[in-house]
Amino acid sequence: MNRMDSLFSTLNRVRIRSRVTRITTRFRDAAACLLAPQTCVVCGKNSRRSVPLCLSCEAVRLGAENTDTDRCERCGRPLVSSRSLCVDCRTVAPLEAIDRVYPLYPYDHTAQELLAAWKLSGNFGLTAVFAGALARELSRFPHCTVVPVPPRPGKIRKKGWDQIDVLVRHLERNFGIPVLRCLSRTSLIQQKGLGKTERRLNLKGNIAYIGKKPLSEPIVLVDDLMTTGATLDSCAAVLKGAQSPAVFGMTLFYD
Ligand SMILES: [Zn+2]
Ligand SMILES: [Zn+2]
Repeated sequence: MNRMDSLFSTLNRVRIRSRVTRITTRFRDAAACLLAPQTCVVCGKNSRRSVPLCLSCEAVRLGAENTDTDRCERCGRPLVSSRSLCVDCRTVAPLEAIDRVYPLYPYDHTAQELLAAWKLSGNFGLTAVFAGALARELSRFPHCTVVPVPPRPGKIRKKGWDQIDVLVRHLERNFGIPVLRCLSRTSLIQQKGLGKTERRLNLKGNIAYIGKKPLSEPIVLVDDLMTTGATLDSCAAVLKGAQSPAVFGMTLFYD
């Protein structure tokens, strides 16, 4: 099978699986909006589904058009000038190990409410919404394996679940995307509140490769939010040390 055939078969697989997922979620949504109506965080109307985002607002806010703007060739943030790299990547603190990050949507008020509903209030229906957006973009990387960014130690004990693992499990089961859980984090210091340099020092040596053999495939690291990009870059350095030929990053939101 040549490269184009393989790309089309992956796209078809994603399309068929999304259709099946859509039909099953439609039944679940009909039941959910009768039992516990959800208010859409964008338009404020009854979302008529089990998540706080109606279908038309989802199409606008988490649609492909939003990711189709001119982006920085490294960190993937939208560009304000005609240069290929943003100011941060040109001057302040360029990402060193990762080939390119593809952060999908801005971390605006809507994104904050959606992430809070998912992570803090446990609206598990949002997993399918987020995974659907990621799967559409991941279909551009038919030869890549997804690696989840590992949680901080103690995070699962504190929050009760690992959102990124749940997200990649959905990608694996519902979209047939290959996933490799090969990174582990040992740092006890939280990244939150640290500057870019401190984050790098904090992360250095605290992410370990726990795979059984060297990597031969390109990787897409998946996380929910990119702030400085330091976590993704540190994970990429470890994966490249494990011989991955190329490491990209994809996050739902960028700050
Ligand atoms: Zn809406
Ligand atoms: Zn950049």
